[in-house]
Amino acid sequence: MKITLTFDNGPDPEVTPEVLSVLKARGLLATFFVLGDKLRDPARRAACERAHGEGHWIGNHTFNHLVPLGLSSQPDISTREIARTEALIGDLAHPDKLFRPFGGGGNLGDSLLDGPAFEFLQRERYTLVLWNAVPGDWAYPDTWVDRALDACRENDWTALVLHDLPTGAMAHLDAFIARAADEGATFVQDLPPDVVPMRRGEIVGPVRQYVNAAA
Ligand SMILES: [Zn+2]
Repeated sequence: MKITLTFDNGPDPEVTPEVLSVLKARGLLATFFVLGDKLRDPARRAACERAHGEGHWIGNHTFNHLVPLGLSSQPDISTREIARTEALIGDLAHPDKLFRPFGGGGNLGDSLLDGPAFEFLQRERYTLVLWNAVPGDWAYPDTWVDRALDACRENDWTALVLHDLPTGAMAHLDAFIARAADEGATFVQDLPPDVVPMRRGEIVGPVRQYVNAAA
């Protein structure tokens, strides 16, 4: 059982530092997929800088996370949601330009990207990072740990989506790590190849099902 921890939708000025402290105490490294809009706040940016400084990877998770890119009707969505966020991440960005779209509730489907966004990611040599476990920590802040362990048992290598948001869920992060470790889990920072269908603009796995051809 191998687990890659990812934290989406931050940074948060209170919760991200809590998560970082847990990871540091456990000696684990993760990836934080941040929102560009939040990075404009100095306290949130400071949390992101701390994460980067402590060896975590920083990825792009759109600017404002309002409408899945595959459902958007805005013609310049790539610029507004992806490029603008990458510019705000600046030198904190992972050199592979990690980008994680969102589908609403963790759904993997053709709402993730529209055609122009997909072409933009290829042209600008982004790495598309998906997931294979979404235990819904935001909806089950006190019971997500069991759900996450169930999900991890189903995969050889899990890319687990959690959220460094003020839901109370991250109070159980250390307990999750302890219980997973008791079951023999190994935590790694690398991303499972199965959830990375595009690496530096090259298509390396099935990806068309995530692109809304009609958009
Ligand atoms: Zn998200």
